[in-house]
Amino acid sequence: MRKYIVAGNWKMNNTYDEGIKLCQAIIEKGPELEGNHKCIIAAPYIHLSSLSSLMDGTGYQVAAQNCHEEEKGAYTGEISASMLDSIGVEYVILGHSERREYQGENDAMLLKKVKQVLGNGMLPIFCFGEQLAEREAGSHFELVKSQIEGVLFQLSSVEMEQVILAYEPVWAIGTGKTASSAEAEEMHAYVRALLLEKFGTEIANNSTILYGGSCKPSNADELFACENVDGGLIGGASLKSDDFIALITALQNAKS
Ligand code: PEP
Repeated sequence: MRKYIVAGNWKMNNTYDEGIKLCQAIIEKGPELEGNHKCIIAAPYIHLSSLSSLMDGTGYQVAAQNCHEEEKGAYTGEISASMLDSIGVEYVILGHSERREYQGENDAMLLKKVKQVLGNGMLPIFCFGEQLAEREAGSHFELVKSQIEGVLFQLSSVEMEQVILAYEPVWAIGTGKTASSAEAEEMHAYVRALLLEKFGTEIANNSTILYGGSCKPSNADELFACENVDGGLIGGASLKSDDFIALITALQNAKS
């Protein structure tokens, strides 16, 4: 069954106390999550263990924003998938455009990371999306196809059915510019068609494809109403409890 998800990505924001307060406000004031609706908070490493305890039994779930591609060893400053699993993390964001750009993450590294996450019983939230220049040149479908082929098409069906996808046009991340609902739906439908061709109907229909890029309460209704948009990966608007809760409610209303 397809899951509908609002996932917050705090990025490198919130001190320890600020993060705890924000998480408490979200789980105290946020709606109950019913059926196949999920809410995930991807916090910095310092928060994960505490958030996992705070969220236990609430239906809200915790994600990391990255993990290392190797199992363990001499990688100073890095965190492995098994470490994340050991503190109750359930999802890991992989392939965010900021990591592709600033940390040089490529398909080969991301495939290893996806395998680490799955191998440790967690679920990857795999991000992909084009830069502004690629959209303007009309090569956005080609680019997205290559990002998906380079990583997700290397997985078995059993692995693929656990992956959550997130289309994040880079030109819309943190810029205040959102893809129109027509642009988002067009790309999401395209991605679902790619999944259909490679993995078949069941995986294509059941896969969750999130939209990310300046999604906020004022544009969420329109985006979440799209047939192939199954929720959002939310940066800026996940840092304010009221905005984040409004997005969870918007998704529940759109996909009830
Ligand atoms: C993101 O970083 O994944 C994101 C979508 O950010 P924002 O909502 O701030 O554009």
